Amino acid sequence: MVGLIRRKVLRSLVLCVIMAIASCAFGYATYSGFPGQIISAFEPFIPGEQLADDQMRITFMGTSVVPRIAQQCNSVFVELGNGDSFVFDFGSGVSSNYVAAGIPPSRMDKVFLTHLHGDHVGDLITLYCFGPSQDRKTPLYLYGPSGDDPEEGTQAFAENLKKLMKWHVEAFSFLSTGLKDGRDGYEIIAKELPYMTVGGVAYEENGVKITHFPAVHDRNGSISYKLEWNGLSMIFSGDTIPNYYMIEQAKGIDVLIHEMVVPPEVWASKNSGLNPGDPGWERAVAFALAVQRNSHTSQKAFGYILSQTNPRLGVATHFQANEDTVGPAIEDIRLSYEGPVAIATDLLVINVSKNDILLRRAVVSDYAWYPQPYMYPQDQIAPPKYDGPFAQLNDTLLGSIVPEEIYESAK
Ligand SMILES: [Zn+2]
Ligand SMILES: [Zn+2]
Repeated sequence: MVGLIRRKVLRSLVLCVIMAIASCAFGYATYSGFPGQIISAFEPFIPGEQLADDQMRITFMGTSVVPRIAQQCNSVFVELGNGDSFVFDFGSGVSSNYVAAGIPPSRMDKVFLTHLHGDHVGDLITLYCFGPSQDRKTPLYLYGPSGDDPEEGTQAFAENLKKLMKWHVEAFSFLSTGLKDGRDGYEIIAKELPYMTVGGVAYEENGVKITHFPAVHDRNGSISYKLEWNGLSMIFSGDTIPNYYMIEQAKGIDVLIHEMVVPPEVWASKNSGLNPGDPGWERAVAFALAVQRNSHTSQKAFGYILSQTNPRLGVATHFQANEDTVGPAIEDIRLSYEGPVAIATDLLVINVSKNDILLRRAVVSDYAWYPQPYMYPQDQIAPPKYDGPFAQLNDTLLGSIVPEEIYESAK
């Protein structure tokens, strides 16, 4: 009971804070106030809503570095009014948000990787392995940067992913995994993008153009993406230090999705439990500062990037949004930028049209099942590789199976 009252008090407190910030700062997306609660300053979005022909919809499926219940690692899903859809990064844990949002694997077959850090690629195993047993009977298209060493590029990553998951692929190949025209869901077609090219075309089809430009992050080989369609545009930075490629490319953009990290002192205290003056405190802060300096964008730097580019909407992601991190971040951003800005958490949904940008939060079930798959006509489906579910078990294991009739006849 005391717990319940405390929760209610906390909830009102948090809502007050949200209203205060939202009114002066356009608001941030969702807010994790305390365990088990997600509180939003925005109207709900119900998945399945028809997208207008001339709009772009961006759904944040993962928004954090730290894997947490309220925020998975990084990914955004972009849908266009012409029916196309694109995935940018696919970090640990994001599959659960895609399932909850009702996105079938057939609509997630084009994945654009900014770099190959685990918090941006960690859930590709799930997408690759379970796509063909759902409705992706065609290859997974992976776009991503080259590396200085070919073994570190996206092509090698894709080949190694296939090798890594061979046992799973064979196991599921007693089911149909492809189409009679030769396409197969367990194929990965990788397109490697030269990481130093500015404005290189990653994808151009159906009126959609996705280009890339260098990001500056940790070591050579990270990129950012720009998508343009129907007079609308968005940039997804991936991870990067504030850089002049971005300032040049993001001028005139509709939605700039840019990474931002908490200050080194916050990172040090949240992740180590240390306080100023404790043994190890200075070392923990120095470590966090070094990571920020060679890899990431501070709150003030994000504000500066916005001030130099003036997007219709700036969205910070890759940021742990807590009750005590969002307010100071907005304050830092406001030191140099007064325009519309949001801090993303999972399931933020942004509809972009030429006249409006609408921010909402998707309302989903914590207990979702896979969405309804696209059903190919039977005569298009290729036969499975193996004859039935027992074809890959040896005689000894087959002989050890308890006959079904022994337990299924139980009444
Ligand atoms: Zn990274
Ligand atoms: Zn990252």
